[in-house]
Amino acid sequence: MDFDRVPRPAYCVPGSSVKNLIIAIDGPSGVGKSTLSKLLARELDYINLDTGAMYRTVALASSRRGIDARDHAALQKLCEEILIEFVREGGEESVLLNGEDVSRAIRTPEISLLTAAVAACPEVRRAMVERQRELGAAGGVVLEGRDIGTVVFPQADVKFFLKASSEIRGQRRFLELQSQGAEVGLARTIADVKARDDADINRSTSPLKKAEDAVLIDTTDLDIPQVLERMLTVINKTRKSGQEGQPG
Ligand code: C5P
Repeated sequence: MDFDRVPRPAYCVPGSSVKNLIIAIDGPSGVGKSTLSKLLARELDYINLDTGAMYRTVALASSRRGIDARDHAALQKLCEEILIEFVREGGEESVLLNGEDVSRAIRTPEISLLTAAVAACPEVRRAMVERQRELGAAGGVVLEGRDIGTVVFPQADVKFFLKASSEIRGQRRFLELQSQGAEVGLARTIADVKARDDADINRSTSPLKKAEDAVLIDTTDLDIPQVLERMLTVINKTRKSGQEGQPG
């Protein structure tokens, strides 16, 4: 895998007087992580790293090769062979699998469910976590996923855990899929969200759970601007205390 095409902020250099934070956003599907992560990254001029897209791309590649999600050796080999890249053009982020734009192909309901199974494979997680750490180590990054604050960056400067009822999350996912022209039903989408929650929470390697020191935000009755404001308040507090701690 090669993530070198991910652009880094100009000020993201060792010795910079601006503290480049590592911001972790975890939570179940449909809770608003992707939207908020992108908005935060834009607001702060940080990199946005959608770790779910990485697992989704592995799932898509495995399905194309006909690999069974229980065949961990084959999945490990796959991770060594494929090239996943993120590219940003005109504010739009795309995910490439061996040079092919798969941004849409990884978002189908079938790939979503397969991803939860593939992401339970410890070998896949090891490969993804290693790349995520390399990409985020310099800071100036917002990472969103399931295990960022617990496993990938337990030392992250700011950690958020977002939650919302599964019905609300299913409805949000349904509207999102509908707007993309997908033919899906509401009941089926809510059931899929619950099935994925179940797989993510109950897997033995890096299950979805809130880090003890993560700030919990229930987004059930909040809109995106309200959540964003809460997150920025927490981040600004951390930035301020970091600047105060730095030699003038
Ligand atoms: O965030 P998104 O819905 O795109 O994630 C798709 C799937 O990828 C999740 O259901 C989960 O199984 C897996 N995932 C993970 N760890 C992450 C990010 C995503 O296991 N850090």
